This record gives sequence, structure tokens and C-alpha cells, in this order.
Amino acid sequence: MQNQSNSYDLVISGGRVLDPANDIDGRLDVAVSKGKIAAVEANINTINTERVIEAEGLIVTPGLIDLHTHASAGIRKPFNEEFLVTPDTAGVSAGVTTIVDAGSTGALNVGGLVNYVEPEAKTRVLALINIGSMGVANLPEVKSIDDINHDAAVDAIQSSAIVIGVKARMVTPGITALGINLPKAAKAIATETGTLMMVHVGDIAGQDASAPEITSTLLTEIMTEGDVVTHTLSGEIGALLAEGTLIPEAIQARNNGVYFDIGIGGGNFAFDSARKIIDAGFIPDTISSDITAASRFAGPVFSLTECMGKVMTLGITFEQAIEMTTSKPAQILGMASDLGSLSIGSNADISILELVNGNFIFHARSGPGGKGTQAIRPVMSVKDGLPMPLDYGPRPWGWLPSPSK
Ligand SMILES: [Zn+2]
Repeated sequence: MQNQSNSYDLVISGGRVLDPANDIDGRLDVAVSKGKIAAVEANINTINTERVIEAEGLIVTPGLIDLHTHASAGIRKPFNEEFLVTPDTAGVSAGVTTIVDAGSTGALNVGGLVNYVEPEAKTRVLALINIGSMGVANLPEVKSIDDINHDAAVDAIQSSAIVIGVKARMVTPGITALGINLPKAAKAIATETGTLMMVHVGDIAGQDASAPEITSTLLTEIMTEGDVVTHTLSGEIGALLAEGTLIPEAIQARNNGVYFDIGIGGGNFAFDSARKIIDAGFIPDTISSDITAASRFAGPVFSLTECMGKVMTLGITFEQAIEMTTSKPAQILGMASDLGSLSIGSNADISILELVNGNFIFHARSGPGGKGTQAIRPVMSVKDGLPMPLDYGPRPWGWLPSPSK
């Protein structure tokens, strides 16, 4: 009996399909029809398929999700002078199909992102508004309570489907001026709108001696189930290590349902701090890049896949790294039925990746810090069923040792 051959728009054939949400890891084909996943099976008949992509030797995963980026380029300055990247630089050009802009804009200028940046992007764009009304267009974004506009923030979130919550940075001078009232103000906005709150821990300036105490209060008294801590593996004052030990409030918050995102960033990730936290058994939920133009072009972030390679030097497996950039962030976003899996009927967002073996040195801001035997090279992004070539990834081969094989 001949198998019936369905007509598909696209079949990605012969790759290793890795779909943590559905517990799938095997040599399978993925079929796409009308922008949705239509089938995940072995040996799909492609006679009536519009386009077949051969993925032999490659890995086919749900479209990668970067939960923390700065991708509102153009809201303030010409693109080439901006310290924000475009959504596609962080996104489909680097093998990532969904990005969350984490607080580049605030209640009073998020319209620039919603009306002008997002419509130009091929990448799926979501946004958290900064607690500071002008976001990073007016750094430091919070100098006093006057920089926070609760009603405008609530209105901004309620007015746009892509604005999915609020972001607060626990940094000076805002934290010095407002103390715990800074994250409290963010929580009030998230609570009123029923949306996500993401909080940046770790005071880059490192000048505020009260930072560790404030972080403990934040984790146990302000943050609740579904909220997200970003910069989990930071070595900065006010992050999750106190005198080299993971603070117990982090474990308490996790038990309360708070999520922990990595948010590598320029200076928000340190290999020695990361090892202490991971070795304590505290595995973050998600890997994100916190990418900006500087950290994309001069390093040490470069791309989400490069960040995944960094985290894999800490003992996180490739399979875990995929889960931390697909099903986990989709769950945090409350979008697991559409994103982060290859379930039949979900959005046909797919990343095709190559796992490259070799001897790799990964860098943090302080310099080289992690040795790995695997790096991830993005090969193709498929967003809503549309294949897109990449123009980047995963790492600058000239600057870092290239694979030895
Ligand atoms: Zn950030």
C-alpha cells in the first residue's frame, strides 16, 4: 500500500529532531503547512511538498526564544549609532525566531517599538517595558520616583498585544533613591495588568552596600510565582552570591515559583560565579543573551547560540541548553501552545543548528573563562513556516580558536 502523500509547504528532512516539550529526540522529518507544524514523523513523503530542506547531520529544534534582548534599534538614534540591535540581528539572522526586548523602552516611548520597529522585523518580537518611562533612551532610567508613571505603564501594556510585562533594574541610582519601592512599583504594574515582571539583579556600579539585603527582600517579599529574575549567574554585588555562596532566598523564591534567567550580557555573567551557583545545584531556567550592539559586535555576547555554548562549559548539556531556549521560555511567556515546541498546530518556528565539536574557549567580559568541546552554529531560521538564511553565527572564528577537527 502506498502511503498517502499530503501536500506540505515545507519539509525539513533527515535531521536530528530535538523537541524537549514533547520528549522527542530522533531522526525525523518535520512538515509545515500554512505556517503551522503539520507533522513530525519518519520518512515523510515529499512528492507534493513545495520545498524540502535537507538537514542530514544537523539538529532541528523548535525556534529558539531569547527572553532578554535589547533590540529596539532606531527608537532613539540612527541604526548604525544605536547601542540597541535590530530584532533580526538578535533574532532570525542568528538562528533565533522569538526575542523579548527587556526594557529598552518605557511607557512613554514603547510606541516606537510597537509601531515602527516590530512591523519591520522578520523575528517574532515581544516586549517588556522598562519601569523607567523612557527606558534606556534616558539612562539611568530611574533617578527618582518621577521617572515611573504607573498609569502610563498600565496603559502601554494594555494597549499592545506584544507588550507582555514590565522590567526593573535593581541598579544605582534608582535603587539608592527608591530602595525596595523600585521593584514594588514594577510589581504593582505587573499585578494590575496580570503580566510578567522581570527583575535585573546585580548592581553594575557596585557602590550600594545595601544591595544584597534589598535582593533578599525582593526575592522573598516582592517576587511571586511566574516572575523572572535575570542575571542569575552574575558576579556583581546584589546578585545571587553573597561571599561566594548562593543566597538561600534564591532557593526560597524558586520554591515559590519564581523563574531564573541567565541574561549573559556584557558584564552580567562571570564564569567563576556561574560555577559556584551551578555547582550548588541551582540550574537556571532559561538562557538569554541580553544582547546589545556593543556586546554583539565587540563581544563577549555575540549571539544566543554563543551564549548557549558558554553555559554548556558549566556542565549544562546541549539538550538542556535547547530546553532552556525553547520550551522553558515559552512556558514562562505563557505561550507554550504556540511557541517553544514542534507540537502539531503550533507556529512553524524552527531553528536548524549544527553542533560543532572542537576545542573552544568562551569569553566573559573579564576575558577567556570557559573551555568547551562543543559550540552551536545556527544554520537556518524558519519563522511562521518561512525559511530564512542567516547572516551570522555563532562566534568570531578569527578571534577565538576555531574547531580543531
Ligand atoms: Zn538587559
